[in-house]
Amino acid sequence: MSDTDAIRELQSRLNFPCSTATAFVRGRGRCEYCGQDLLRDRQSYASLELDHLLAKERCDTAVSEHPANWVLSCRCCNSTKGEHDVLVPGEDATEMLSSHRSTLIGRARKFIRLKMQDYDRQWRLANEILEATWWSWCSEGLPQQGAPADPDC
Ligand SMILES: [Zn+2]
Repeated sequence: MSDTDAIRELQSRLNFPCSTATAFVRGRGRCEYCGQDLLRDRQSYASLELDHLLAKERCDTAVSEHPANWVLSCRCCNSTKGEHDVLVPGEDATEMLSSHRSTLIGRARKFIRLKMQDYDRQWRLANEILEATWWSWCSEGLPQQGAPADPDC
C-alpha cells in the first residue's frame, strides 16, 4: 500500500483528519520527538496527538497548515513542547519548514529533553518528600482518609 493510500485508509476507516493521517504515516506510528512507538499498546495509542512544529498561535494559517508543520507526537512530548518557538529570529517559517524541517525537529527535541530533565529532578524531589512522610506514618499511624493534616500554607 502506498503512503497516499494509507493516509486515505486512516481517514476513511479511522476518521483521522488529513493532518493526523499524514503525520502518522510520515512518522511510521512513532512520536517524532522521543521515538515512542504509538502502536505498541492501547495506552500508547491513546496518547497519539498531532503537534504543530511551529505553534499555531505564532504563525499564519498557510504556515500552520503546511504539511511539514504536522508532527506525530505522544501526549507527553506535545504538552512539554507547548508553544515553544523553534524558529530563530530572522528565519523564514516557510523556508525552514520546506528545507530545514529536521533542524526544527532537532531544536524541539532538545527543548523537550531539557524540560524532561527538569521534570526528572522534580519527580525525584517529590518522591523524597513523600517518602519522608512515610516514616512519620509508621510511627504515628496512617492519616485518616479525607482528613488531611491542616496545612500551614
Ligand atoms: Zn514523545
